Amino acid sequence: MQRPHRLLLLLLLACGTLFPSAAVRAQGRTEPTVVYFPAVGHHVAEPFLSFWRRHGGLRIFGYPISEAHERDGLLVQYFERARMEAPVTCAGTGECPVQLTRVGALVTAHRADPAFVPLALDPPPSATALRRYFPETGHTLAYGFLRFWLRNGGVAVFGYPISEEFTETDPETGRTSTVQYFERARFEWHPEALGTLWEVQLGRLGALLAAEHGVDTTPVPRREGVPDYDPSLFSRSFRLPVLMYHDVGEPAGRYRIPLWRLEQQLDWLLANGYVTVSLEQAYEALLADGPLPERAVVITFDDGTRSQLLAARALAARNMTATFFVVPGRSALGPTELRELRSMGHEIGSHAMTHRLLTRLADGDVRWEAEASRVRLEQWLGAPVRFFAYPGGDWNGRVAGIISACGYQGALAAWGGTRWTRERRWAEPRIEIDGRLSLDRFAWYVERF
Ligand SMILES: [Zn+2]
Repeated sequence: MQRPHRLLLLLLLACGTLFPSAAVRAQGRTEPTVVYFPAVGHHVAEPFLSFWRRHGGLRIFGYPISEAHERDGLLVQYFERARMEAPVTCAGTGECPVQLTRVGALVTAHRADPAFVPLALDPPPSATALRRYFPETGHTLAYGFLRFWLRNGGVAVFGYPISEEFTETDPETGRTSTVQYFERARFEWHPEALGTLWEVQLGRLGALLAAEHGVDTTPVPRREGVPDYDPSLFSRSFRLPVLMYHDVGEPAGRYRIPLWRLEQQLDWLLANGYVTVSLEQAYEALLADGPLPERAVVITFDDGTRSQLLAARALAARNMTATFFVVPGRSALGPTELRELRSMGHEIGSHAMTHRLLTRLADGDVRWEAEASRVRLEQWLGAPVRFFAYPGGDWNGRVAGIISACGYQGALAAWGGTRWTRERRWAEPRIEIDGRLSLDRFAWYVERF
């Protein structure tokens, strides 16, 4: 049995660093270099803290289940769904290379079921947006699992697939589902949560490995002066292009884009390594240390016109998703169409009940526009509606204040650039994509605006 707490302290003393008073000055404010998770009774300190926050947080790695400690000549820490490692000399510093242990490979090392046998396809088939083959391990990755892998860290976090998809019963939960193993993860498919962050859930491989290694997971008391983990202790902002479209069709106009031009733009995004993410993921990254791919893009459609179904299918054919802001009081898209959009993995948001300009309305009418539209959409979908887009991009502080109390997680303006900050949570910026835009100009907006 190990004594991680004491070991860590020894390590720290060895490198001349003392916890927990150390705090780094980052982006003009003091951020802690160690935090405590009271729910599980463990600390996370540098170098693992920055890595945990930047590459996945709670949803991807889960809670710490041990303290950081030395094992086999490395500084390691076990989390529910991962194990992190760094050179022992790195304890307490944020500038150190952190690696994730190949937990998926370790816990399946003994397995020889057919799904784990490499396909060894020669020549390797060329990749499409819907399916990729990895000659590194001889396995394929497709559809929803591929989408999740790209959106949440790819090879750097999960590694390559080491099995094909197959059906398995989780011994811990007793649930039978479609799963796939990766070098550092186990994906589990949850069709009931399609289109949300939880359509794929990760196995507790870190916990499994900790049990195999006999690691001490007993909660420890908080070290003096260490704060509870809270994402708001850290600053967070990022560049994120959020594209705003309206109608789809001919003739091209400010608010109407021909389908061929939209498809050309989607293909450009794919060819240039962009990954569509939902607003749910963008807001998780902003507010809760969730992961965001380096080349993330959000695609949105306003007003809920019928022609947008064409766009939805063009996106689905490319394994991409968008957010559709619907006006349920007058939109052409009703419950059947919206459920079809959701079944393709798209996200539905509210664009108010009647599309009136909100700054011209009394408080009670603004509240009704926001609340009644959310409730109706939720009835149609049987799922929460989390985001709001101001009709006509028309908002001010008063309107934003009312929207923030109507059961949403965030709201979008129609313009304002690409810089996302917590201060702009109720009016994050978008880029209006005029239906006549050239491909060069489109690329400029996505890359440079
Ligand atoms: Zn509109």
